Amino acid sequence: MTDAVDPPAERLLHDLGITEPGEIDVEVIACAVGAAVRYCRLAVGDARIVGLGDRAIITVDDRASRVRQRFSVAHELGHWHHHRGQQLICRGAAEQQDGAAGCEREADGYAAGLLMPRFMLEPLVAGVPMSFDLMHQIAATFGVSTMAAALRLADLHPAAFALIVEEADGRRWFRRSSSLNPRWFVRSAASDMSATADRCRLPRANVAFAAPAQQWFLGQGVRDAEAMYAIDRVACGRAVHLVVVK
Ligand SMILES: [Zn+2]
Repeated sequence: MTDAVDPPAERLLHDLGITEPGEIDVEVIACAVGAAVRYCRLAVGDARIVGLGDRAIITVDDRASRVRQRFSVAHELGHWHHHRGQQLICRGAAEQQDGAAGCEREADGYAAGLLMPRFMLEPLVAGVPMSFDLMHQIAATFGVSTMAAALRLADLHPAAFALIVEEADGRRWFRRSSSLNPRWFVRSAASDMSATADRCRLPRANVAFAAPAQQWFLGQGVRDAEAMYAIDRVACGRAVHLVVVK
């Protein structure tokens, strides 16, 4: 995760005089810290970085989407900042063990801070309710995937909400926003999310409905709360469920 105070990615943006989302050019930023970016076919993973002294080459798979390429470059810059000199293979935190997973999360946090810095994002979301529309708007503004935008909003949006993600292979994981009551737990055996969506015929965002919060959460006081629920199907066959506490 990014540092709580003066995170390094945002400090770099300040140092480079970057103040607008459209100015976050990852190749230029890489060049400023001694890393060249090249695009070609990679047999393993989306990207890698090889460094020698204070110079590095970041190689990114040229078949990936542009938003994925941008995140990959920013992720490798996270390794360049935090893990210089270490041998790492980027496979995503979920597929790594212990220390390596920690490095991957740290690089992802750096990437999120570089591509969606707090000082640019917070003014855009101030007073705007959490929704899939907001996720898509942030994704378009900052040139990132909807999933990356959703996870960054979980860190920075003031609303209390949970994202429950169902991968195409059936794995399910969730992310809670920083404002969600820490004593509330997302129900691991919540009513089948896809079935709920199908039953309610919610193929896309913009269709949300209110329901008792205890349908998705367990914890003290949850019985008195209501939540708004919506589902969106994003890239890679994922279904994302958004539950916002009212
Ligand atoms: Zn990595």
